Amino acid sequence: MRYLITGGAGFIGSHLTKCLLDDGHEVHVLDNLSTGRRDNVQQWTGDDAFTLTIGNVLNEHTLEQCVESCDRIVHLAAAVGVKRVMEKPVETIQTNVGGTENVLQMARYHDKKTLLASTSEIYGKAMQTNPSLDALSEDGDWTLGTTSKRRWAYACSKAMDEFLAQAYYDEYDLPVICVRFFNTVGPGQSSRYGMVIPNFVERALEERPIQVYGDGTQTRCFTHVHDAVRAVRRLLNEPAAEGEVFNVGRPEEVSINRLAERVKNRVGSSSTITHVPYDEVYGPGFEDMRRRTPDITKLQDTVDFAPSHSLEDILRDVVAEMNVASDGGGQEKQKPSDPALEQ
Ligand code: NAD
Repeated sequence: MRYLITGGAGFIGSHLTKCLLDDGHEVHVLDNLSTGRRDNVQQWTGDDAFTLTIGNVLNEHTLEQCVESCDRIVHLAAAVGVKRVMEKPVETIQTNVGGTENVLQMARYHDKKTLLASTSEIYGKAMQTNPSLDALSEDGDWTLGTTSKRRWAYACSKAMDEFLAQAYYDEYDLPVICVRFFNTVGPGQSSRYGMVIPNFVERALEERPIQVYGDGTQTRCFTHVHDAVRAVRRLLNEPAAEGEVFNVGRPEEVSINRLAERVKNRVGSSSTITHVPYDEVYGPGFEDMRRRTPDITKLQDTVDFAPSHSLEDILRDVVAEMNVASDGGGQEKQKPSDPALEQ
């Protein structure tokens, strides 16, 4: 089977590429390297089963050439995360809505099964507005903030993707699956775009203060990228998943304060843990979610999936990889990130 992975030079995409190649498939990556890195896929250069096209999903001609020759599409290319949408709102909306529309059009035209990456961000403040909720399930309501608050544009752009996917499934019988990733982390994730675990680990390794946003009592659920990739592969092979949306995450919650302590202990760092008001990072009126916990019953029932990696496994793997990098033994050392973290 030949897979097209848009955004395949990114964090999740490069892990998925490895899995699919290991399983004997062919992989064609289309990536504009905006947040992805050539280094992430360099190891497969020269491998007959691997093709890399540096290009943009907004370019229909390039996209069509890639789609024509594949059997299945995994569409991961996106302007990712809240930090990026705060800085580049136009690019985010254009990439996430226009890019997905292009992919779905080509997939329909060439009749290719497609999996789209969505996000837990689309639940917005659902757990705040309904405190009796223990977890977020796919058919539950969302609560997003007003359009003048830029951070909600990321969630809305991904929600549009899901609406489009459903429309293509209903109107054109396109076999399409949407996955809502919940804070997916692991080795190879860059600290540059505001992801909390690589930022904390980087700061701990450099003995710089670990900056927690807000009071740090907000919680998040972290999923090892190996689990996320395993879920994606199972969904791609399950006909009953077509036309459906799935949470992909691990329901165990950890507060950001506790996460900072665990990172500090794992690294053996003398970093202090400091608190920074959200307003100082994202500007006045920034809204965050207190909790974001996945209900993964649907994923378990459909593909018999349960995450197998704990938070301790995640921290072990991320620290090990970043330690090697900071010793100059692995990937190029990342520059100290700006202070924005996605918490
Ligand atoms: P990433 O930034 O590492 O990957 C995104 C990739 O898309 C990058 O390689 C980037 O260069 C590429 N890209 C961006 N715009 C492009 C364009 N116009 N044309 C071609 N390529 C383009 O991020 P990731 O964490 O690997 O995320 C992958 C997908 O999963 C994204 O759709 C993201 O929204 C979604 N997601 C990720 C998480 C997470 O926690 N990592 C959570 C929720 C959703």
